[in-house]
Amino acid sequence: MSDDGKKIEPMRIVLYPDPVLTKKARAITPDELKAGQADGIDLRELAARMIATMYEADGIGLAAPQVGVSLRFWVADPSPEHTAPLAIVNPVLSNQSGTLDMEEGCLSIPEVRGKVKRFQKLTVTGLDLDGNPVTLEAEDLAARVAQHETDHLDGILFITKIGTAARFMARSKLRVLEDEYEVMQRRRKK
Ligand SMILES: [Zn+2]
Repeated sequence: MSDDGKKIEPMRIVLYPDPVLTKKARAITPDELKAGQADGIDLRELAARMIATMYEADGIGLAAPQVGVSLRFWVADPSPEHTAPLAIVNPVLSNQSGTLDMEEGCLSIPEVRGKVKRFQKLTVTGLDLDGNPVTLEAEDLAARVAQHETDHLDGILFITKIGTAARFMARSKLRVLEDEYEVMQRRRKK
């Protein structure tokens, strides 16, 4: 619920192979943060709706390109109870160490899963919605989410990082998504 008691509307999640998912997103400028607006979008409303969308879809992270907004911004909540949502503007990852091979999925590529090798530990720096600097030490699942979501901002999907066998297994599901996307595009043109 928002402050005025209205339910926050979730957004439509953009699915593979929509080109916004493979485009590098641009940084949000300090002036845009101060104004709370970028590309005509209210950033606080975007954050609230993205968090609602992530929870509704049972996800633990969602990047702005996944709702069709090509800005460097993501939300995440890797907490076990899903009670600690986090929103980071212009995230940068550093101090990466260790590796962990774990199965991943993506809300934009339903039903496809595969093992991805990620850093086990890292530091996330960025800004909050007030423009204040944020620094987070992330490990395991939290570090994995930070890497998966930051990849989204660079137009990188996890399916490009899974092994050959997993990619082979995913092929038919990806084909279905590609066909559905094409049908949708054709309908839009009419
Ligand atoms: Zn994803």
